[in-house]
Amino acid sequence: MIDTHCHLQDRAFEEDRAEVIERAREAGVAAMITVGVDLADSRAAVETARHYGLSAAVGVHPHEAASAPHELADELTKLLHEDGVVALGEIGLDYYYDRSPRDVQISVLREQLRIARDRSIPVIFHQRDAFDEFTRILREEWRPAMRGVVHCFTGTPAQARVYCDEFGLFLGIGGVLTFPKAESVRDAVRDVGVGALVLETDCPYLAPVPKRGKRNEPAYVAHTAAKLAGLLALPIDEVVSATDANALTLFGMKKVSDT
Ligand SMILES: [Zn+2]
Repeated sequence: MIDTHCHLQDRAFEEDRAEVIERAREAGVAAMITVGVDLADSRAAVETARHYGLSAAVGVHPHEAASAPHELADELTKLLHEDGVVALGEIGLDYYYDRSPRDVQISVLREQLRIARDRSIPVIFHQRDAFDEFTRILREEWRPAMRGVVHCFTGTPAQARVYCDEFGLFLGIGGVLTFPKAESVRDAVRDVGVGALVLETDCPYLAPVPKRGKRNEPAYVAHTAAKLAGLLALPIDEVVSATDANALTLFGMKKVSDT
């Protein structure tokens, strides 16, 4: 399995990061992408990835858009050159929390999308309560050759279709899939099928049932994979190999060994 979205540099893992990563590997998580939310956190993600042999993503989350420096493009470009960096993210819009003003979220998203486009880097998106604005911006900035994932997908089947069919995006599926109220996410997943999905945890947040409410960690991606297999009526091996293949295609990562 590949955990395509975790935050292992987060201070929630300060005490036992090495054990968490070891448990993940024992549970069959062969690769993990640890994702930054601002420039300092992205630097920490690169360091953590280097230290533990993981992959990293670097970018400025919409919550942190207001703190993005004027030299964002230069700083990000430097980080994108670091070893182990496979994506630009997480970037996007969050109109649920509105922690940064919306016009700033939009301009920081556009700036980062242009960097991804110019450098042919895959993108990890965060989108909450901003579907219309988000897709309007993508219609202007996105190009068919670009690759990306809408992480922590929580939308409707119709929204999933727009992401997958119009933009060729993958959907990042995590613990929310296992939550009792997430019927529309399960409908969307059944509708688009395993070919459009990658697995993630978003740890330390959003632990899947039966770990819900606890600190999440990459090993728990197995619970989401099992839920997905049940939902799609597929053997778990098939779900794992399909989502792994999708992640490798999306991020251009090297094939990881099965052992
Ligand atoms: Zn995240």
